[in-house]
Amino acid sequence: MTDLKSMTRAELDAYVAELGEPKFRAKQVFQWLHRGVEQFDEMTNLSKALRERLKQDCVLTVPVIEQKQVSKLDGTIKYLWKLADGNCIESVVMRYKHGNTICLSSEVGCRMGCAFCASTIGGLIRRLQPSEMLDQLIFAQKDSGLPISNIVLMGIGEPLDNFETVLRFLELVNDLDGLNIGMRHISLSTCGLVDEIDKLATYQLQLTLSVSLHAPDDETRSRLMPVNRSVGVARLFECCRHYFEVTGRRISYEYAMVDGVNDHDWQADLLADHLKGTQGHVNLIPLNDVRESPLKPSRRVAQFQQRLERRGVTCTVRRKLGGDIDASCGQLRRKTLLASGKESIS
Ligand code: SAH
Repeated sequence: MTDLKSMTRAELDAYVAELGEPKFRAKQVFQWLHRGVEQFDEMTNLSKALRERLKQDCVLTVPVIEQKQVSKLDGTIKYLWKLADGNCIESVVMRYKHGNTICLSSEVGCRMGCAFCASTIGGLIRRLQPSEMLDQLIFAQKDSGLPISNIVLMGIGEPLDNFETVLRFLELVNDLDGLNIGMRHISLSTCGLVDEIDKLATYQLQLTLSVSLHAPDDETRSRLMPVNRSVGVARLFECCRHYFEVTGRRISYEYAMVDGVNDHDWQADLLADHLKGTQGHVNLIPLNDVRESPLKPSRRVAQFQQRLERRGVTCTVRRKLGGDIDASCGQLRRKTLLASGKESIS
């Protein structure tokens, strides 16, 4: 069966041509797909014969809302989607002044093993398809009635570990006949896969690259993020510097503040040293308490921020949204797996 929604425009054009249909049909199909139709019969401007053909040959992916939580505090909405194969992923819709923003998952689970992250506890189950990434946006928008103008790839999974799919997703979401979300409205967050960052640089996309740094020294970073054991902080910063040179886009560094682990003054100083001349921006994240993890939120966020700022680093503290729901990375999926008895706390 053909997954139409995962096709690029060129592939869809070729497919429609193969069926002996005129080219404008491809555009019509594309528009319907991105509007979130759930049946081929909803594509009312196609001929009956074409609809029947599509029904026979193609799947129309429609995720099921397994759970939905709405924050009473700030209207943040969290979706737990059930995919066609029964796996679940999460997305979060956040309501900012500059526009509604969706946080999307790129994989079912994650294989990066970061010590503080709920998404990685059960490992990687599988990577998502482009259609499954798009569907999170399409159906969140349809269900909530909120127009979504910004995307952050910061949900479950490591986007650069699903590189080709994510690139295809970016191309599709950018399309004028589809969701038409510009690259400057998209952030991609990575734990720091240097080969993939180098590869991404060659595309010169105008998106914002966020690098999950979380520590400026190898000892701490390797403890928090196994990915650092093979690459190291020096190589990561070299890679980021190159990315900035090639794309002209400033990098944003994510730094989740962990009590007594990465919140010391000397680490703020070292971070400032690394960032000299890079125009990098630091986003300090108050750690979300993950039940399975012994790591606790830092009490020194403000001091750390001041210290960085005094050394000329631009720095913000992430505002916590959805505090009354399970709005952070992987927590709702995790809770549901536990409740269904599919996993136990290890
Ligand atoms: N794999 C990608 C994107 C997913 S995670 C990455 O590593 O960047 C999105 C962000 O949330 C990352 O910066 C991640 O490190 C951070 N994060 C994960 N668990 C967290 C927690 N318990 N508290 C605060 N931030 C967390």
